[in-house]
Amino acid sequence: MGKKVLIIGAGGVSQVATWKCAMMPEVFGEIMLASRTKSKCDAIAELLPRPIQTAQLDADNVEETVALIKEFGPDLVMNLALPYQDLAIMDACLATGIDYLDTANYEPKETAKFEYKWQWDYHDRFKEAGIKALLGSGFDPGVTSVMTMYALKHHFDEIHTIDIIDCNAGDHGQPFATNFNPEINIREVTAKGRYWQEGEWIETDPLSVTEKFELPEDLGTMDIYLMYHEELESLAKFVPGLKRARFWMSFSQNYLKHLEVLQNVGMTRIDEVEFNGQKIIPLQFLKALLPDPASLGPLTKGQTCIGVKLCGVKDGVEREYYIYNICDHESCYAEVKSQAISYTTGVPAMIGAKMLLSETWAGDGVFNIEQFDPDPFMADLNEYGLPWKEVFIK
Ligand code: NDP
Repeated sequence: MGKKVLIIGAGGVSQVATWKCAMMPEVFGEIMLASRTKSKCDAIAELLPRPIQTAQLDADNVEETVALIKEFGPDLVMNLALPYQDLAIMDACLATGIDYLDTANYEPKETAKFEYKWQWDYHDRFKEAGIKALLGSGFDPGVTSVMTMYALKHHFDEIHTIDIIDCNAGDHGQPFATNFNPEINIREVTAKGRYWQEGEWIETDPLSVTEKFELPEDLGTMDIYLMYHEELESLAKFVPGLKRARFWMSFSQNYLKHLEVLQNVGMTRIDEVEFNGQKIIPLQFLKALLPDPASLGPLTKGQTCIGVKLCGVKDGVEREYYIYNICDHESCYAEVKSQAISYTTGVPAMIGAKMLLSETWAGDGVFNIEQFDPDPFMADLNEYGLPWKEVFIK
């Protein structure tokens, strides 16, 4: 008999992860889906191949989450809400002695700044409580780190440089839209770039460093931009001998043109402004105007290609290597009524949960995904919809 999982958040990522969990009753015996807006949980529940429970929950409120955990009695809480809720949900897990998983590291609402420190600080308390937290079990962070550790285990003695390259060669046909939560996405994209080199963080102006990247399998060439991304921090910590780690994301000229105007007129600000006697945060207002990422599912065509380029040495010889997944937006929609961005995050969230519930990955404390054996996770990617390929460039 499978175990019990409480999934928090009912957005794009949650829909895919919940669907994938529901397909596997031998691991996920009972599922409860809880979120701020219960009707969204019910809408997801209706799509699924078997019944699940749903509930209303404000996960910013620790007592509410504690009460729901006590009522349902899960073996694991999957936090697929927003990064703002991470610490509150970790507090609720600590109070009830239940394991925790997420896909994005904590970010305070008032500053667009994310780092692992806040969550790493929970390590001793989780360890003492005899429970574990798995941080960053999405695609990036998530699969990209597991791919790196897999390459280190099998193909390198030492990895010297890591370039994570996240390309979306898909098209949703909208003038401007973001593929996942617009507020989180725009905060990330408009923040300063940052990469890690020889133990130091080097900061760059937002989207100021760009290169051309030729995608595999004749998907064309895209402009990619250097950005900061949270897995750079954990990779720098867990890959010995590393000299440089960078993260790149593709953007179309059309996306960048809209973003520049929105930024110039102040619509991406995250501080409060006075409007008609009311205080509003422009970026939150903008989110209300933009298409809901979930609505892009049936419209999006083309593929995503996310992978990692690694340089290092094996048996004294220099090696250059690329490992990637290509995911087709329309196939994802046909399978779970979601586009590939949610799919590429929801599937690894399910796999991470499976690793914990099956005790394939064990231990007490707070862990990044780099700290576990990559092999069973990599095997599951092939099995559950995110097949990967590797290329030995040199
Ligand atoms: P969505 O905005 O689509 O969904 C977020 C959900 O969380 C919504 O249902 C929302 O409720 C709910 N929520 C927000 N606040 C609360 C709260 N206080 N209590 C309970 N529920 C709440 O986001 P996505 O599905 O696109 O993203 C989910 C997570 O995945 C995010 O943390 C995102 O950063 C992460 N992510 C990670 C990626 C990776 O590769 N690692 C890639 C993409 C996303 P409501 O419907 O009421 O607004």
